[in-house]
Amino acid sequence: MPEQQHIRRQLTTDDYLQGVFAGDRAILGRAITLIESDAPRHAVQAQELLQRLLPHTGRSIRVGITGVPGVGKSTLIETLGTQLCERGLHLAVLTVDPSSSLTHGSILGDKTRMERLARMENAFIRPSPTGGALGGVTRKTRESILVCEAAGFEIILVETVGVGQSEIAVHAMTDCFVLLALAGAGDELQALKKGVVELADLIVITKADGPNRERVLNAKADYMRALRYLAPTTSNWRVPVLVSSAHTGEGIDQIWAAIESYRTIGDTTGTLIARRQAQTQQWFEELLAEALQRHFYQNPQVAERLPQLRQAVVLDQIPVVRAVEELLQLL
Ligand code: GDP
Repeated sequence: MPEQQHIRRQLTTDDYLQGVFAGDRAILGRAITLIESDAPRHAVQAQELLQRLLPHTGRSIRVGITGVPGVGKSTLIETLGTQLCERGLHLAVLTVDPSSSLTHGSILGDKTRMERLARMENAFIRPSPTGGALGGVTRKTRESILVCEAAGFEIILVETVGVGQSEIAVHAMTDCFVLLALAGAGDELQALKKGVVELADLIVITKADGPNRERVLNAKADYMRALRYLAPTTSNWRVPVLVSSAHTGEGIDQIWAAIESYRTIGDTTGTLIARRQAQTQQWFEELLAEALQRHFYQNPQVAERLPQLRQAVVLDQIPVVRAVEELLQLL
């Protein structure tokens, strides 16, 4: 069916399912739009769709990619992604960029990115969902990963810029977290300070070409030294530090080889499944806590009594714990 017709017609959940399973890009895009929607009327259908897709999810390798703007994320994803697609693999690229809802111009979306990859038949590129706080963006991306998996993508790359807590959010939804780093420019220190190095399963120092190559090799040694002081996060896995150049092609194969061997080790030792289960559980607890909070503050009796009790505790008329207990009783 021509794409235009899809756009006009409301789709049933069955339509979405069939389209996603058939790998129909237009319907896949619409399914993600449905999931990203904040409209309550879409939420019911989105959850029904996810429920039915769920048995068909989980079979991809989920790779997070982070690094400061300009480090070479899109260039690397384009180069590596194109190679993987040429090998017949199916690759979805999703992005998490909480700045996009603040600035209306996503850092990641500003430029024309990954043009070559975007034209590959096996690739699907989806820009960051916009609107809402990081929590909202994260939920949408997590659910989009599931939809892409049901559509048969074997590799899901989730890219993020180092804005706010976005690295932690992407780390919490991926199997393997890749940190791209620049040589010099204080990048090592910043990444260490922010705790991003601790999250990395693989570190790649980019732009190892021309006069920069020497500095890259020095930076590699620095990172390797820094890593010695960090506790390994995955058993049997020592975080490799690689160097790459999208210009000369150096390191690109090794990056993929490292991700594959990380996966093999994770599958064999069971750490990968454990990581996913822990991630899903954590997500569940977070959503539950958020929902409870919303439920509490939206309760009309709470809304009425809360300001009075707040005032009373401030004036030492009632102990704080007692005030809290009284509010909870209202639920
Ligand atoms: P992003 O903001 O992290 O997505 O970075 P980009 O992929 O857009 O790259 C930023 C700039 O660095 C662009 O001008 C690229 O051409 C350049 N660049 C990316 N990779 C390499 C590389 O391996 N070597 C060199 N010399 N430049 C690179």
